[in-house]
This record gives sequence, structure tokens and C-alpha cells, in this order.
Amino acid sequence: MASAHTRSRAEHPHGDDGLVSVLLPLPLNQLYTYKTPAGLALRLGDLVEVPLGSRTVPGVVWATGATDAVNPNRLREIARSLGCSPLPAVARAFVDWVAAYYAQPAGTVLRMTLNVPAALQAPRPIVGYRLAPAPSTELRLTAARRRVIAVLEDGPAQTAPDLAREAGCGPGVVRGLADAGYLEAVVLPPAPAFGTPDWRRRGPVLSPAQETAAGALAAKVAGGGFSCTLLDGVTGSGKTEVYFEAIAAALEAGRQCLVLLPEIVLSAQWLDRFAARFGTPPAVWHSELGAVRRRETWRAVAEGRARIVVGARSALFLPYPDLQLIIVDEEHESAFKQEDGVPYHARDMAVARASLGSCPVILVSATPSLETTVNVELGRYERVQLPQRHGGARLPQVEAIDMRQEGPERGRFIAPRLVQALGDVLSAGEQAMLFLNRRGYAPLTLCRHCGHRLECPNCTAWLVEHRLARRLQCHHCGHAEPLPAACPACGANDTLVACGPGVERLAEEVDAILPGARWMVATSDTLAGPSAAADVVRQMAAGEIDLLIGTQVIAKGHHFPSLTLVGVVDADLGLAGGDLRAAERTFHVLHQVAGRAGRGDRPGRALLQSYQPDHPVIAALVAGDRDGFLAQEAEARRSRGLPPFGRLAALIVSGRDAAAVDGVAAALARAAPRGDGIDVLGPAPAPLSVLRGRHRRRLLVKATRRAPLQRVIGAWLNAVGRPGSVRVTVDIDPY
Ligand code: ADP
Ligand code: ZN
Repeated sequence: MASAHTRSRAEHPHGDDGLVSVLLPLPLNQLYTYKTPAGLALRLGDLVEVPLGSRTVPGVVWATGATDAVNPNRLREIARSLGCSPLPAVARAFVDWVAAYYAQPAGTVLRMTLNVPAALQAPRPIVGYRLAPAPSTELRLTAARRRVIAVLEDGPAQTAPDLAREAGCGPGVVRGLADAGYLEAVVLPPAPAFGTPDWRRRGPVLSPAQETAAGALAAKVAGGGFSCTLLDGVTGSGKTEVYFEAIAAALEAGRQCLVLLPEIVLSAQWLDRFAARFGTPPAVWHSELGAVRRRETWRAVAEGRARIVVGARSALFLPYPDLQLIIVDEEHESAFKQEDGVPYHARDMAVARASLGSCPVILVSATPSLETTVNVELGRYERVQLPQRHGGARLPQVEAIDMRQEGPERGRFIAPRLVQALGDVLSAGEQAMLFLNRRGYAPLTLCRHCGHRLECPNCTAWLVEHRLARRLQCHHCGHAEPLPAACPACGANDTLVACGPGVERLAEEVDAILPGARWMVATSDTLAGPSAAADVVRQMAAGEIDLLIGTQVIAKGHHFPSLTLVGVVDADLGLAGGDLRAAERTFHVLHQVAGRAGRGDRPGRALLQSYQPDHPVIAALVAGDRDGFLAQEAEARRSRGLPPFGRLAALIVSGRDAAAVDGVAAALARAAPRGDGIDVLGPAPAPLSVLRGRHRRRLLVKATRRAPLQRVIGAWLNAVGRPGSVRVTVDIDPY
């Protein structure tokens, strides 16, 4: 085995024994060795199809020579080379690095790169039609047929659907003409999927502070090599315009760049700004992308035709051959942490990817994460600052409303001071936003008679009433049921009451307190897809909405010049619970939401409704003391050895049978590693102790920064046997 690895460094395309080892995009931690068929020259990174059991699966040539101990006579042959661009060395190194860091099989990580199977196959030729020199049969030329012919007389060959659309007829008309020999089929050249962004176009005239910041970032790009820079600027300071200059520098050098945004589906405004600056939209990558677009984008990235990609976290795993710049906008966002599959943090992995590829990475935020702040203080990252809002706009004034003293009457959720402020803003012709991070009508429904609470059958969670959709919904597993007429526990009729507000209920209250106000509810329920989101943004910009009521989907990124008031209905919402990052995350979200106010020439105001206005988070927001808050939070974590000063990993043990789960959790606890700077806590019920019908227990591993965390966990898991019905997942740096 060792010799096979040494040989992999040799110059031969494959080992002189004609063997290559292939990584498959499957949850397997090993390479599989295959014979190279005669006449096939393979390079490292080539995408191939190989036999596995009775199927054929795609894979990537990961090493030359044999890596498994299979009898050479039983080795099978590579079925074929897929003939697409090879997976670049840096992308392969990245897969290995992520797998090692998160203690996951390399194949599971590779699957994130190869998750577009269709893109691996050569694209099918696109067939179009043009006019034939002479028809073989005579047809009566109806108006529709004549329109098709007219289109082709003036223009180039087109696909049947395009032709039909342009001629305003059904596809049958085109087919009929083709069958009769009026049209002939030709293979069309593939349409260029992405325009070439023009970095020479001029952006806005930058302020002196922006100019300095942009110059520093562009210099990083021009200089090349790894660097990590925090672009730290208050909301509305023009950070986007500044990092556009870094993008321009990368485009000028003819390299690829990647921009990661936390909610790509909601970033219509960002895309418009990009197109305005560079003359063409970027390639976009997110989960809602259609199949055709997905395939095209994957290939365009692999072939280097897509020069700029903007995407959600998964865009990090695309096969860039020439990535020279990575930007992570809103780097503090918890949306960058993936919880399913491989639980990775896209910001951290962006830094790792940049380091492996020797290129600059820029982290952008108005409220940098504690991790990043500490890295700046330790001198690992550089910082470029934009201390003021662009164009003289001032930061909003933030006030707390003490709900114990000046709360609303029973059954209402908006305090009189906020009602007053909303009324003032609307009568001045300005806009307002009400923020409540709760979808639906009410987070809890309970029986007034027996006290029974409506719970999800699959999770330890309450069912949330969605009154518009007329049903109860679990926000964890998607379970939905109609609202029962009688209490399922005691059978009493008409005793179920909604407790607490969701955004739908706020809208109802707005109708009562501000009759005639034009409001709109914006949540992930109402903004399904990019076009719905773009529409809300347009309506806000056009002043067709007075009041936007929404969850975190409205918290960030958007720029509405006439928005002058932000009301946070429940500022305490994120503070409950023992989560390590609860305070930090609440600070980020509320700071972002407040930052939507007063971005134009009128000053803004943010009102935070709270039952604990003295809480450090609320106090820091009111005082505008971000750095004080971060310093205090850092100190609290340092003293307890918590991230980023120490490290954490969680082991989640789950299964349908509670006793089996408890058994495995107890066995893990008995075999837990101690010493070496590692300490294990638990098992305890995981935060959602039942999720989708699976019981969950958690063990927390606390380690010093130097402890060999991944290796210790790997050995520990190998030492504890478990039934197949119980799953153990490892979450390094859990959130
Ligand atoms: P941030 O990302 O820091 O919150 P943005 O980049 O969104 O800030 O900028 C806030 C607003 O100011 C946007 O509408 C943007 O177009 C505008 N802006 C920023 N810089 C300039 C500039 N140099 N000239 C004109 N408008 C600018
Ligand atoms: Zn559920």
C-alpha cells in the first residue's frame, strides 16, 4: 500500500501496473482500485464510470496504483472516462481536507461536488430548425405556418419550442412543417450560458474611505496568494460597492471568483446591482435552480467559462479550476452552517479553500462573528474598515421598550409607543418594518379547558398554527394537519386558543391599529422562490407597501431608502435556551434588522420590545456598542474555554428505539476519551429530543485548540459497536 502511494507521485498517468484508485461519491472512507482499460490514458482528477456490485457509478481518479488489498486477478476495469474536465487538484485536496476536518468519509464530501449527475454526461446536442431549400410535400400554408416560415426567413435556426413561441403557435405546427420537409434539422451551437462580465465599466464614484478600502482589497487580489481580510463596515456603508472592486480586479486578471451570500434566493437586489456594475448577471448557484440551469452552471464552472459565481454555501464545492477570490458576505450569518448531511460551516471552509488554492478571501460584515473578530485581534486576519454610512446617512437610533412597564393591553403584541411611532412614520409617507422571527399565526395552541398543548407527533415541538393555510404545522419535520374543532385530549368544543404571536397575527393587529395601512407579510412561506422575493423588493422600492411584516428573510441585505422605522416585536426571542451562541446570534440579527432603518436621507429609528431591557445584548444595541459587546462575549467564552478559544464537537446518537439509543449513548460515555485536553460531557437529551420520530441524545466534546480532536473521535467511534438501527453523527464546531 505504501509503495502504491509513493508511485502516485510518479509522472506516469497511471501506475505502471495500469491500476488507478477511484473515490466514489458514496459514504465510504476508502478508495477502490480498478484496472485501466487498454488505450485509455487517465490523469488524476479524471471523472470516470466504474462498476460497483451490479451497478455503474461515477467516480474520480484519486490516486495511481492500488490502494486496496483486493486480489489483482479480481480487480475490475474502469467502464469509461466521462470525458468532462478533470476535477482540479485543489478541489480534490479540498474534499480530503473537509472530510478530515469534519470527521466524515471523503466520499460523502465528494458527493457535494458531484451532486449534479447530469452535468457529468456530455451535453446532448441541441437540435434546431431552419428553412429547407425545397419542401418534399405540398402543405396548405395556414397563418400559423406562414408565421413560422416568416420567423426563419429573417433569423437564424432555432429550437422548436423557441420557434413556436416566437411565431405564437403550438409546437405541433413546427413539427408538421418539419415532417413535410419545409424545415430541416440542424445541430445548434450551445448557447453561451453566461455573459462575460465587463470589469471596465465604471462603478459609482467611491468616497475616499471606500476608495482606500477598495484599493486594499484589489491589491490583495492582484498580489495573489492566501490572505484573509475582514471588510468591517456599518450597515449601509457601501461594502458591496467596495468588494465589487475586488471582483473587478479578479475579472481583469481573467480568474474566477465566488461570492457566498447567506440567502441567495432573496438576493434579487444584489443581482441587480451586480448586473448594473458589470453589465451581465453572474452565474447563480442555489438549491432552487432548475435542472437544466444546474447542469449548465456546473459545467460552465468546471470549464472555467463561468467567471463569477454567486451562491449559497454549496457553491463552495463546485469544481473551479481557477478560483482567485472568495467573498463571504454577512460572514457572521448562522445560515452558513449546514446542519444536514456533512455539517460544515461555509465561512470556515471558504477560508480553508482559499488557503488550499492560495487566493485571497474577504469576509464582509457589519457585525463580525466572534470567531472572526478574535482572528483579527490575533493578527491571523487583516481588517479593512468603513466606519460611516455612505452619503452621510446616519445610523438608526435604537431604543428599548420595556414591556413590563409599557406593554400593550392583553391579547395585543405591539406596545403603544411602537403603535405611535408606526402611525407617525406612515403619515409622513415613510415606510416601516415589523420584525418577528416566527412564521404563521401563533406558535402554540392550547386547550383552555384542560391545558393540553398541540404537539407534533414526530418531534418534541409544538404545532404552529398557520391561519391563512388553515392548518397546524411542525416547523421541524413538515408535519401538517387541520386545526381540530375539539380538543384532542378532553374532547371539549371551541376551547382551543392561539397563544403568542406569529407574523400573521401581527398583520391582523396592524389592521386594527392602523386601518388602511398597506402591509405585506414576508416569510419563507410567502416568498417561495426568487421571483416572489424580487416582487416584494420592487413593491417596497416603489412605495406600494407601507409596512413590511416579516421574519429573518427581511432582516438583511435590502436597501429601502424610505424605510425609517423598524419595530422588533420580541427582541428576547433568541435569548432563551442554553445555546452557546444565543447572545451573539441575537445581537447579529437585531443589529441587522435595525440597520434597515434610515439608509436614505431621512434618519432612522429602531424600537426593541423586550422584557429584559437590561440584558447585555439589548443594552449594547441601544448604546450602539458593538465592540464592547464582542469584547464582553469574548471574555465570557475565553474564561470557559469555549470556541473560538477552545473547540467543541457534538455526537448525536439517534434512532427510533429510545432504549437502543440510550444504550449506545451510555456505551459511548463509558468509552469516552479523557485527558489530552479533551473532556466529554453527557449524554443528555439533544435540543430536540425527538425529531422526525427519532430519539436523540447528545454528547459534547470539549477540547483545547491543540487537541487532536478528529483523530480522538475517530478512534472512539471505532471502539464502540452499535446496532445498525442507531446512528451516530459527528458535528465538529456545532451551532
Ligand atoms: P452595505 O453593504 O455596507 O450595507 P451597500 O453597499 O448596500 O452597503 O450601500 C448602501 C447604499 O449606498 C446602496 O444603495 C449603494 O448603492 C449606495 N452606495 C454605496 N456606495 C456608493 C457610492 N460610492 N456612490 C453612490 N452610491 C453608493
Ligand atoms: Zn415535527
